[in-house]
Amino acid sequence: MFPVSPPRAWAEIDLGALRRNLSVAREAIGGAQMAVVKAGAYGHGLEEIARALATEDIAFFGVANVGEARRIRNAGVDTRIYLLGATWAEEREEIVAREWTPCISSIEEAGQFNRLAAARGIRLKVHLAVDTGMGRGGFVAENLPETLALLERLEHLEIEGLGSHLPSADEDRDFTLRQFEEFHAILASLGGASRFKWVHLANSAGLLGYSAGDCNLSRPGLMLYGISPLDGFQARLSTVMTLKSRVTLVRTLPAGHGVSYGRQFVTRRETRVATIGIGYGDGYPRHVSGKGADVWIRGRRLPILGRVTMDQMMVDVTDAGDVCEGDEVEIFGPNIPVTEIAAKGETIVWEIFTGITPRVMRCYL
Ligand code: PLP
Repeated sequence: MFPVSPPRAWAEIDLGALRRNLSVAREAIGGAQMAVVKAGAYGHGLEEIARALATEDIAFFGVANVGEARRIRNAGVDTRIYLLGATWAEEREEIVAREWTPCISSIEEAGQFNRLAAARGIRLKVHLAVDTGMGRGGFVAENLPETLALLERLEHLEIEGLGSHLPSADEDRDFTLRQFEEFHAILASLGGASRFKWVHLANSAGLLGYSAGDCNLSRPGLMLYGISPLDGFQARLSTVMTLKSRVTLVRTLPAGHGVSYGRQFVTRRETRVATIGIGYGDGYPRHVSGKGADVWIRGRRLPILGRVTMDQMMVDVTDAGDVCEGDEVEIFGPNIPVTEIAAKGETIVWEIFTGITPRVMRCYL
């Protein structure tokens, strides 16, 4: 028997930090929270994050599909579940049977939910989704009072919520302020906030940077995982995920020696090169190659050399003479902000988090 091999790369996930970030969301906007845990809780591990938040008085968990909803239930968590996007016809029977909460974007969809709920003799709670600018789902704003009247005739549905989504709360303040106004005008045209149990619009950027108005539920995702999509709020949030690996090898290469595929980096001096056991096969963005990104070893920032490969990357440790095989490496976390890696990789933190692959072991602190 061989001993269990330690993982080449792992993600340390600080559940205390997650809970602190939830408190920041609560303080920022008040009201109740729908914790957005789709895509494996943004790569942090769906079951563990759902269990950690289940005791925190969360109104809903927001998921993308019934597979994610099932995983939450199989983890023993009975918090209400909300399906954030459109559902497929094949998914609806299970949604009704398990009384998960869909958002409704069409009369046909509502009709099918109503028939399925009638067959079970229940009234299914649903939310009316309104498209105020995202262009991805929901009813467009025309004739909404008539639409609501039609939906109200479906006896096996209870329209308990009204929701919309913000496409650019972190990019375009004027547009977003107008969107908040438009959403409130729609709400007024439908009978005001008292007509619905839940009224919701804000994602992380929406709840950090804007006032809630009549909304009594927010839908934070990214900020729970420690990253503010808006400038000026990062200091209030705590790092949840620290991605780590180890030095697997340290060698000295002569001047003029290529490093990695394509030989885009060639040493200019005799260079001590550490090979690290993580690459794009773990979800580290290959696009960062050659953009001046660093890792953190023994309290120092050290530069990645050449292209990131599938399982390994190389780092210049010439000026860090003490670095040796087995040393722990922070790939991103408190010292190397993931926002920096996202910017260098010309992508967004949401994509980096959700792209961390299953072979990276998640370790919960
Ligand atoms: N609400 C909806 C409908 C979403 O699709 C998302 C995420 O994409 C969120 C809320 C959470 O957004 P964020 O991660 O920016 O807080």
